[in-house]
Amino acid sequence: MRWENLSPGSEHSRADTALFGAETVTTRTFDTPEFAGITFHEIRARSIVNRVPGASRMPFEWTVNPYRGCSHACVYCFARKSHSYLDLDTGLGFDSQIVVKTNAPELLRHRLASPGWRGEHIAMGTNVDCYQRAEGRYRLMPGILAALRDHANPFSVLTKGTLILRDLPLLKQASEVTDVGVSVSVGFTDEGLWRTVEPGTPAPERRLDVVRTFTEHGIGCGVLMAPVIPFLSDRPDQLRAAVRAVAASGATSVTPLVLHLRPGAREWFTAWLGRHHPYLVARYRRLYADGAYAPKWYQRRITRQVHELAQEYGIGPARTETPRRIRAAGPAGPPAAEPTQLTLL
Ligand code: SF4
Repeated sequence: MRWENLSPGSEHSRADTALFGAETVTTRTFDTPEFAGITFHEIRARSIVNRVPGASRMPFEWTVNPYRGCSHACVYCFARKSHSYLDLDTGLGFDSQIVVKTNAPELLRHRLASPGWRGEHIAMGTNVDCYQRAEGRYRLMPGILAALRDHANPFSVLTKGTLILRDLPLLKQASEVTDVGVSVSVGFTDEGLWRTVEPGTPAPERRLDVVRTFTEHGIGCGVLMAPVIPFLSDRPDQLRAAVRAVAASGATSVTPLVLHLRPGAREWFTAWLGRHHPYLVARYRRLYADGAYAPKWYQRRITRQVHELAQEYGIGPARTETPRRIRAAGPAGPPAAEPTQLTLL
C-alpha cells in the first residue's frame, strides 16, 4: 500500500481543488491485483444527501453517493460526464480515479437526525455503483445502511456489484422498520459482450446469483435490464436468453432500458465501437442522430419485446412472495444527481 498526500504541484492538484470543497484530500494506491492502476482520492465531504434536480423525470428527490468514478468501467456509463466536474478525465480517469467520501456514514446520520429532514426516500447506486470494488475495502455502505435503519428512513439500492450480499443482514434489519427497494442491473447475458463493454463488473450470471440469494432470503429483488445495446444485445434470441435467465433467478420484475449516449459516455462508447465493431459506427450515428436517446419507435419495440417475454416466463408481482416491507426498486432504478448529473447503472 502506498500513501501520497497531494501537494500543489502534483498531477492531481486540479482535481484536488474541484472536489466539492472537501476539507482534506489524500490519494492512495493499493498494491493488490484487485486495485492495480486505481487511485483513490479520499475526501471528507461537506454533505452527502443530494437533491435530484427539479427537472428530472426520476421518481426520487434525494440520493446518496459515497463514491465518484467507478472501477466497473462500463464503456457506456452515463455518469462519465460527472467526472469532468472534478476536472478528472471521463474515459480511463472515470474508471481509475475514484473519489471516496470517507465520512459518508457520519454525514448521513447527522443529516437524518437534523430537524429539517422529513424522512423522504433516499436512492443509492444512482450515479455510480456504491458496491463497486472500492467498497470491499472502505466499507462505507454498512454505516450508511445502519443509519437508514436506525432512523427508519425508506431507501432503495441499485447495483451491479455482488458485494451487496455482504450487507444482506443489514438490509433485512432495515426492511423490518421501513421500505427498502433492491434492484440489480443486468442488461444482457452475452459473455463476450460483457467482457468488452463492462470489463470491471461481475459476470451477468454472478449478478443474477445475487437476485437468487435475495429471493432465497425472502427479499424481493428486481432486475433493471440496462442497457439494451442496439445491434449488439437486441436480437430476439439475445433478449429471450436474458429474460429467461432473469426469470430463473426469481426476480420480481424486469425493466428494460435502451442505451443512452449522453456527452461524456457518447465519445468513449463510440471510440470503443470503432475498435470492436467498426461496421456499426455509421448505424449508430444514424440511430442516435437526434441526440442521447434512440428513437421512440426503437425504445417501444424493445420494451414490448421484453414485456412479452417477461409475461411468457412469468416474471411479475403475481408469482412473487415479497415480504411486507421489502420490494424491488421500481422500474426507474433511478438516475441520479451530483451535482446535477443523473444516470443509471
Ligand atoms: S454503469 Fe454503473 S456499474 Fe457501470 S461503470 Fe457506470 S456506475 Fe459503474
